[in-house]
Amino acid sequence: MRKKVIAGNWKMNKDIHETVTLVNEIKERLNGLSNNKVDVIICPPFTSLVIASGLIKGSALKLGAQNMYYKDEGAYTGEISARMLKSIGCEYVILGHSERRQYFSETNELINLKVKQALLYNIIPIICVGETLEERESGVTKDIVATQIKGVLSGLTKAQIDKIIIAYEPVWAIGTGKNATPEQANEVHQFIRKLVAQLYSWDVAERLTIQYGGSVNPQNAYDLLSQSDIDGALVGGACLKAESFINIVGAATQIYN
Ligand code: PEP
Repeated sequence: MRKKVIAGNWKMNKDIHETVTLVNEIKERLNGLSNNKVDVIICPPFTSLVIASGLIKGSALKLGAQNMYYKDEGAYTGEISARMLKSIGCEYVILGHSERRQYFSETNELINLKVKQALLYNIIPIICVGETLEERESGVTKDIVATQIKGVLSGLTKAQIDKIIIAYEPVWAIGTGKNATPEQANEVHQFIRKLVAQLYSWDVAERLTIQYGGSVNPQNAYDLLSQSDIDGALVGGACLKAESFINIVGAATQIYN
């Protein structure tokens, strides 16, 4: 069975003081779980990454950022590079989140450049794809997701596919409290895996971690994570409290019991 990967996307939440409290609470609760089958990642805002990096040392927690730019350095005011992230211990970066696509006009082409740059620095990109409500209702979910997958993975080698995570996040489920049903999500996950198999090979597709994101909470986590092709969760709202985040991690560990 593929390992489950639970990542918390803090978005634009938590100042440095709140970060210390939340990371310490998560660490404490994580200690009570036998979680060697589950990877747990926290993705605080840029301003909290350094302090979080220090706090998680010696724990099972891993660190991710929520975005980065695709250039190495230079006159790109306000941007952060993969090299900078690597230097403070980031092992993951969320790329192409629907909020980046919606509010900051990120395209598949730009996300693809960022993915390649992250891989250059051995940072695992968590690449987000997913359809809007309008797209789902007009029956084009798979076309949209296929276009996104082909765009963001363009030019990647088979070996590089082993170093990425895909997060299927239907836009209508993000922050709405309305999650995709386990069956709805699994159907798209299977579609993504088949597509990656066509583009690369079955062995690569079988190893690929595909997370689900969109209103995951402690109540629905087990059912979602028990599906054949759901290998983890990208969690927004429910990761801002240690109890709910760790209960989602707990649901993932139960699947192995
Ligand atoms: C997200 O932002 O990636 C997300 C899935 O948010 P939420 O869990 O709040 O729907």
